[in-house]
Amino acid sequence: MRRISVFGATGSIGQSTLDLIARAPDAYDVAVLTGGQNIAQLASDARRFGADLAVTADEALYKDLKEALAGSGIEAAAGEAALEEAGARPADWIMSAIVGAAGLAPGLRALEQGSTLALANKESLVTAGALLMQTACRHGATVLPVDSEHSAVFQALVGEEMDTVERIIITASGGAFRDWPLEDLARATVEQASAHPNWNMGQRITIDSASMFNKALEVIETKEYFGIDPERIEVLIHPESLVHALVGFRDGALMAHLGVSDMRHAIGYALNWPERAELPVARLDLAQIGQLHFRAPDEARYPALRLAREVMARDGLAGAVFNAAKEAALDAFIAGRIGFTAMAGVVEAVLERAEAELGLIDATMTLDNIRAADHMARIRAEEVMSGLAA
Ligand code: NAD
Ligand code: MG
Repeated sequence: MRRISVFGATGSIGQSTLDLIARAPDAYDVAVLTGGQNIAQLASDARRFGADLAVTADEALYKDLKEALAGSGIEAAAGEAALEEAGARPADWIMSAIVGAAGLAPGLRALEQGSTLALANKESLVTAGALLMQTACRHGATVLPVDSEHSAVFQALVGEEMDTVERIIITASGGAFRDWPLEDLARATVEQASAHPNWNMGQRITIDSASMFNKALEVIETKEYFGIDPERIEVLIHPESLVHALVGFRDGALMAHLGVSDMRHAIGYALNWPERAELPVARLDLAQIGQLHFRAPDEARYPALRLAREVMARDGLAGAVFNAAKEAALDAFIAGRIGFTAMAGVVEAVLERAEAELGLIDATMTLDNIRAADHMARIRAEEVMSGLAA
């Protein structure tokens, strides 16, 4: 039996992971499940899967979780430190599906124990790509991509040598507003931005898809995970979301990965890797679909993509600053404090200010320095946004 933990178990990716685990109950022994405010879901899943430990990120909810687990023998814990400790609980395979930079510390702990980390939490690669990959290397741990595009690239690379790769193309649906007139974007509401045309995902990544910040994070994720030059990474708008990524080789061949928009494919690939198991995902009927469309992204519509290029060129802790500023801007948009198109401006202004903070971006990539850069970026984002409101 493989020991499995799921971080962010109550979310969209977490629930899809548990769906796959539930289909082969004898194959897995669940160690830790973590969640946020949805205590009822966390407790009922912990009971259903017989977890050893359930952790909520919210310290104030410790009592509720403990009560919900009463009589089950399942241990309860709460707060950031408990989440990080959960990463050190022995497990062979750990799903990292917390949303945001909060997923980084538990992921690092998991790698330090030599586990296989199935990484949906792209923010940790954007924030600390080199640290994460070096930690994996040092402890003989494995990082497997779970983002659909990166899983697709990973699969296209099986049996290939990286030095024969000419380019990696990741596709983007274009999100909720791909066909909106540019001048209407500033008035887009949270509700409108939270409706993805093709994928059913958590709210934050859905809004990030509409603004293309999700793709910006994914371009950086591609660089960090596959170690490829930023100039060799391309983004292609593909409204149907059926081709997830393509890898171009030096002989001109382009290997594409196609599949329906169901994250259980990428999760299941990481769960069964290096084997392929049968998965409960719908099969693609290309004759019925008939046509697939592709176009180049419009930089004016999606400033996030340009910012990602700048972050990759800057390197160091620029990714941590970029991600934290994006998280703060997204919080403010969800709270109705800033408009949809203001988010990119906030992130750009924070990146500029970070340059003026002596040594911040060029500091060594340690967890402490990353936390400091993240913290500073959120403070600067607040300053920029209060300037906007004035
Ligand atoms: P979600 O919002 O549905 O779930 C997030 C999970 O993280 C929940 O369990 C929540 O309780 C927990 N969480 C939230 N804030 C936390 C905090 N501060 N500390 C600890 N836990 C916290 O998100 P999701 O859509 O499942 O996405 C999870 C991750 O996977 C993200 O990094 C996202 O970018 C990535 N991802 C998601 C999809 C998708 O289809 N949903 C696809 C590709 C990548
Ligand atoms: Mg993706």
